[in-house]
Amino acid sequence: MLPLLIAPLASGAAVGLAYLFCYGGFEGPVDWANELDTHGSRDRRSLALTFDDGPDPSRTPLLLDLLAELDIKATFFLLGNRVDAHPDLARRIVAEGHEIGNHTYNHRYLPLARSRSVAAELEATDRAIARATGITPVLARPPYGGRSPRNVRVFDRLEKRLVLWDVNSYDWRGAPAAEVAHRVVEQVRPGSIILMHEAREGGETTIDAVRALVPTLQNEGFEFTTVTGVL
Ligand SMILES: [Zn+2]
Repeated sequence: MLPLLIAPLASGAAVGLAYLFCYGGFEGPVDWANELDTHGSRDRRSLALTFDDGPDPSRTPLLLDLLAELDIKATFFLLGNRVDAHPDLARRIVAEGHEIGNHTYNHRYLPLARSRSVAAELEATDRAIARATGITPVLARPPYGGRSPRNVRVFDRLEKRLVLWDVNSYDWRGAPAAEVAHRVVEQVRPGSIILMHEAREGGETTIDAVRALVPTLQNEGFEFTTVTGVL
């Protein structure tokens, strides 16, 4: 009776581990094999702020106002469905000199999707962004940073530069702005790419964190630019 129980459990665990290793759970090996971008040059004191999941009708305009006030440029990884809902905001992001990237259409976890679906997500977003702004983005970031060897190949085939991050603000967890800003300031190194999300419930804390962390880091000699600027 016991072997009957153990054999399927053991093989299940082996399959699970193999899956995690190859398809997203342990992402280090995927990144080393594919040389994905998690940061830019460590030789220059440049940083890239990145904002995922927008545009959002109530918070993205506030963030854009703040970036203008601070006189810095950032990079926005946009969702196709939200660009279709708010094309004017996508246009404003571009008009104000920020960089945009493709963050898929529906924010699916891609390691569980077929290659065909991954391509469809990226292509639908390219079309939405091109309709709104006239630009086809080169940069792309998978939702949750989820990546597998198979879907990295789809990004390559569509000539997307897959960009991750080396500083996670964890702003989505709902900590106060000062704590989010502190976490970022503590972690940055020259060339860091910083992950943030203003386009969410409670995104005001992200905006307040940006207001706090930018002058602090500028005083340490860092300058803020786009992802392409740090790469
Ligand atoms: Zn996202």
